Amino acid sequence: MGTVFNIQHFSIHDGPGIRTVVFLKGCPLRCRWCANPESQSPTPQIGWTKGECIHCNGCLNGIKDLNCRFEEDDLFWDTTAKCDAKEVKRVCPTGALHLMGEEMTAGEVMEEVEKDAPFFVASGGGITISGGEPLLQPDFTCEILKLAGKRNMHRAIESCSYAPWEDFKKVLHQVDYLLTDVKTMDDETHKKQTGVSNELILENLRRVRKEFPYLPIHVRTPVIPGVNDSKEDIEAILAFVYEIRANYELLPYHRLGVPKYESLHRVYPMGNAELDTEKYMELETCAVMSFAQRPLGGQYGPPKTTPRGIDTMLMGGAGI
Ligand code: SF4
Ligand code: SF4
Repeated sequence: MGTVFNIQHFSIHDGPGIRTVVFLKGCPLRCRWCANPESQSPTPQIGWTKGECIHCNGCLNGIKDLNCRFEEDDLFWDTTAKCDAKEVKRVCPTGALHLMGEEMTAGEVMEEVEKDAPFFVASGGGITISGGEPLLQPDFTCEILKLAGKRNMHRAIESCSYAPWEDFKKVLHQVDYLLTDVKTMDDETHKKQTGVSNELILENLRRVRKEFPYLPIHVRTPVIPGVNDSKEDIEAILAFVYEIRANYELLPYHRLGVPKYESLHRVYPMGNAELDTEKYMELETCAVMSFAQRPLGGQYGPPKTTPRGIDTMLMGGAGI
């Protein structure tokens, strides 16, 4: 049994081919730019979307222990109270009040994922376990991946790589593809912007390459204004990416998570920050050019679909 906050169908960004992405709840980091703040706490949480509330007052006395109340125009509730999704759905006619996260068994997750199996075969896709941080629920993650393995699905995880090595290793024995972030090589910046040191992350990724030499690793860097948006920042990350023989991709900062902070009554930590798109393009050119000068050194860009096993052979055989 584990806590899941979303199962997304038909994703084309979270590994090769068409993927079903299972988002698990809970993350040890607190990145200031996190677009999924509902993923951070390990337990189910209530959210409220102001624009969808019709002020029917149904929730005021309708949900046991939640103690919903309006203060001026905003709805507040007891954030420590437990309630189940069915009760919230029964009471709120518009879905303005909703539960984020639910407990599921690995079998229930697989039942949902299997609906997309024909698309996996056609596209070279499969299942990706993401988060939050899947390594925060290592046994549940392994259980799902084992079931996927029995069905011969391609299996990926999307991780921040901040976890005890034993948990990481156990999960990696069940995966065909690792997607991970490297946000900055500067430890002080990392601590300030994510709440934790990057030492364990970098050490873990070096161990992944050493102990799983044929596992494809796809590193991504979200380019965040004022955090890691200089050429020096990206060049430092590129040196590490080459060291661990990974593929690489930059992702532009976006503000799509802002309404989610509002629905949790949380302040968005990035304020009004915006990405300078011209600067981003320059950084992307720098990364593309850098890879172009290393013809045997992996690839820049989104995960590529390859026939099962070919990517693994390339990673192992390229001698990079
Ligand atoms: S690692 Fe990902 S999920 Fe966790 S806080 Fe950072 S951005 Fe959010
Ligand atoms: S039940 Fe839903 S729509 Fe009605 S007041 Fe509560 S949040 Fe608003």
